[in-house]
Amino acid sequence: MTTVETYPTLAEAARAMGQGAAFLGGGTVVMREVNAGTAPGRIVRTTDPSLREIRASGDGVTLGAGVTMAQVLASREADFLHPVARQVGGPQVRNMGTVGGNLFAPHPYGDFAVALLALGARVVMAGGGSPRPLEDLLRDRGRAPGLVAAVEVPRPRDARAFGFLKVSRVKPKGVSIMSIAALLPREGGTIRGARIAWGAMGPGPMRGSGAERALEGQRLDAAVIARAAAQAAEGLDPPTDAIASAWYRREVAGVHLKRLLEGML
Ligand SMILES: Cc1cc2nc3c(=O)[nH]c(=O)nc-3n(C[C@H](O)[C@H](O)[C@H](O)COP(=O)(O)OP(=O)(O)OC[C@H]3O[C@@H](n4cnc5c(N)ncnc54)[C@H](O)[C@@H]3O)c2cc1C
Repeated sequence: MTTVETYPTLAEAARAMGQGAAFLGGGTVVMREVNAGTAPGRIVRTTDPSLREIRASGDGVTLGAGVTMAQVLASREADFLHPVARQVGGPQVRNMGTVGGNLFAPHPYGDFAVALLALGARVVMAGGGSPRPLEDLLRDRGRAPGLVAAVEVPRPRDARAFGFLKVSRVKPKGVSIMSIAALLPREGGTIRGARIAWGAMGPGPMRGSGAERALEGQRLDAAVIARAAAQAAEGLDPPTDAIASAWYRREVAGVHLKRLLEGML
């Protein structure tokens, strides 16, 4: 049997989570587990309105963890994330699926989290403390990391500095063979602080260190893109599933990274 507990505030929900429960965001993943009989016995949710807030903050935007993909798409403050949110599932999934849920959605899901990882997002936990890099949370996510309250997302300097590509067999709403996000801030044309993130190429969203090394300190041109593409799969650990084999994912990673980077020239 599954019991659902509803709390009026994030703080109360966070305390309840500490006692071995799962949090219910939009439920597009959790409710499947409930139906399959594999969900934890206790599910916690909250009606705290702060979870659904989108706020412009400094040079970026803060998304409450309960903000849905549809809300992102309706928000001017989060306009740089529209091309990403649009790629998550179909309309029903975007109406229900949340930013917080996307951080913990199992393979091959987590397209939005891939973009947030490339953008250098930080997570605010409901229990308090200073915001921590999303990268750390993703590394710890198998170990009950607690309730995420919000995600702070820096805005890329200009439209050319950020790119996102989702590769799927079924258009427009199939799940990912892979997704790739690239942040390439440029100073006088030279890339400083390259971040490449991959989805469906490991147990969760991962940085691509080989491609990042090939891009850092360079001017983006055909030769640099070719070098980054050649290093694309370095350090990644793609799984084999019903959508694609690990071998296939490795083989085509460079081709898709090249396509994404060519669009950022
Ligand atoms: C038909 C279908 C298509 C889909 N297509 C895509 C797709 O194209 N791309 C994609 O990325 N995903 C896809 N998904 C997966 C999913 O819908 C999304 O990843 C969505 O963003 C998950 O959010 P949710 O709020 O529904 O998560 P939930 O089901 O509520 O939760 C998912 C997990 O996250 C945890 N969680 C949720 N919120 C928090 C929080 N604030 N703090 C801590 N833990 C939390 C839950 O406990 C649970 O473990 C699809 C799902 C379906 C059913």
